Amino acid sequence: MTTVEEKISDVSPEKTDSKEEIIQIPIHTLNIKRLIELDACTRCGECLSWCPVYDQDSREDIVPRRKIIDFLKIARSQNGFLAKIMKSEKIGESFKKVIRSLFGYQEVTEEQIKSFVANLYECSTCGLCEVVCPAHIDTVSLWEDLRRLIVSAGYGPLEPQKVLRKSIMTYDNPWQQPRTGRTKWSRRAKKDNLITEEPREIIKSKGKVLLFFGCTASYDANVKQVAINTINILEALNIDYGVLGKDEKCCGSVLLRMGDPEHKRLFQENIDQFNSLGIETLISSCSGCFKTIMQDYPKVGKLNFEVLHTVEYLARLLKQDKLKFLHTVNRTCTYHDPCHLGRATGGFDAPRLIMNSIPGLKLIEMPRNKKYSRCCGAGGGLKSGYPDIQNKMAQRRVKEAEESGAKELVSCCPFCYQGLQVGISSLGSDIVVKDMSAYIAESLLGYDVFERADEDAAAKKKKKEEAQLSGEDEKKAEEADSDG
Ligand code: SF4
Ligand code: SF4
Repeated sequence: MTTVEEKISDVSPEKTDSKEEIIQIPIHTLNIKRLIELDACTRCGECLSWCPVYDQDSREDIVPRRKIIDFLKIARSQNGFLAKIMKSEKIGESFKKVIRSLFGYQEVTEEQIKSFVANLYECSTCGLCEVVCPAHIDTVSLWEDLRRLIVSAGYGPLEPQKVLRKSIMTYDNPWQQPRTGRTKWSRRAKKDNLITEEPREIIKSKGKVLLFFGCTASYDANVKQVAINTINILEALNIDYGVLGKDEKCCGSVLLRMGDPEHKRLFQENIDQFNSLGIETLISSCSGCFKTIMQDYPKVGKLNFEVLHTVEYLARLLKQDKLKFLHTVNRTCTYHDPCHLGRATGGFDAPRLIMNSIPGLKLIEMPRNKKYSRCCGAGGGLKSGYPDIQNKMAQRRVKEAEESGAKELVSCCPFCYQGLQVGISSLGSDIVVKDMSAYIAESLLGYDVFERADEDAAAKKKKKEEAQLSGEDEKKAEEADSDG
């Protein structure tokens, strides 16, 4: 497991370590709401009892109240009247000594700042502390804003997170994959008979619904079921949709969560592109992309369309009687609320409405659900910065799912899919992780496309082998005839 000391050495501000050159954190760029929130923490410790990261790494330094205390300490040591006196070369050391003892003034070292930074990034921005905080501190926005200050002072993000940033800048995706690879999955899926047609390009189809896949669903072969099933659902329902194909870029969520100001440029480029399409609705099967486009993009630019998670869009069609689940899906599952769909946007009901409407599907809730759902650790840059912690968080959630007695663990986010899979592999668990799109597609089509493709491939193989065998038999017979 990566120790905090190793993480601190990861935090590498561009300047030297000398006391005189400690870089100023630009606290003046925080808005008034954040400053009030920093002051509002009563140190009650409720967040400590709930934080899923603290659950796996019981260091007081990483819990919200400590982060707030440490940040204020840094801010006080760098700003204000006393800080000015203490930094002045004209004031003697004996006077400074008096100030220290009289006002309890403490200088903060570069080492302490680095330690604070490492702790600030040991957080999945799951938002549970916000739910339980009696002072109603908007903690996720606070952490993101503090990370922004840290990045602009050159202290963040962490080294492994810089790889994601570089990849987004170079390839428009965080997974270091070429732009041309974004649509590779659909060509492959068509060839494997998992989809009947490649997704319609919105530029040609002029569809009213834009389906935004996101980088994880597009590039990670292990979560390809999300994109494939979503396409099959939209085709089955004859939705007037389209996709951006090779022109789709990262939504920029990763940059925002890590505090990188570059997210604004990416947001604006995407907003301009989306607004130019004449769409009415943008849907995404990725909870991270959905939350970012729906909640964070409007802070940068106006959107001329509505934004929905795919399950919300389908739940609406269900309520309007435009969607009917005809086929039975005999499964028992438990549902993991993605933080970015659930706690962040209040999307608790749509997934449950869908699951409860699919004939045969039995949903067993875990004790920690809806706004108290336990985070799988995949978001907020935690998985790249602290993979061991993420792994333990995922294991904790998977164990909870196992205890529910369900055979399948379903969510509606490719990020959660990846994150939970880590826990399943580490535990060697038999539980199967699913994306909700799989159940929806199966109930609409009457079969699982992956199972059917496997059966077709096996039948084809068998036929070929039989043909080869009978060819060999004929050959043998011919040889026997000629011998005779
Ligand atoms: S729950 Fe809120 S008020 Fe209480 S310690 Fe945590 S951040 Fe501070
Ligand atoms: S956002 Fe989640 S992981 Fe981060 S401090 Fe709050 S409860 Fe812990």
